[in-house]
Amino acid sequence: MKPVAQTPETVTVHVPFRFAKRGGRKAMVLPTPAPDPWAVWLEWYDDGTIHALYENPYWGGKPGGRKKRATAMLKRAGRGDWKCLECGELLPFLRRVDAIYCNAGCRKRAARRRAKRAEYWRLKWP
Ligand SMILES: [Zn+2]
Repeated sequence: MKPVAQTPETVTVHVPFRFAKRGGRKAMVLPTPAPDPWAVWLEWYDDGTIHALYENPYWGGKPGGRKKRATAMLKRAGRGDWKCLECGELLPFLRRVDAIYCNAGCRKRAARRRAKRAEYWRLKWP
């Protein structure tokens, strides 16, 4: 009879940590649980309602800032404001709630357009 799965010779385990000097001694620093930008999202339903959904973090079970973020996103979506100012596309859910552009490209395009417009008015009225 053949074994179902052979055990590998070596197993690589990745442990995320770094060393930091603490008063001349090296100390192991573990990563702090960072906010998960994918944990909050919006859903548009056919009946015209918008739902803001979030997942509780696995370590605490309490929503923390996610409820606040979901509420802020829902407020903007209710105004029809959860869109990029430059291209008009829907903002990605990982963007900050006060973001106005969908990515750096749109932000730079808007800045170039503003600069061009400023240059135009500068030349018109010296
Ligand atoms: Zn955009």
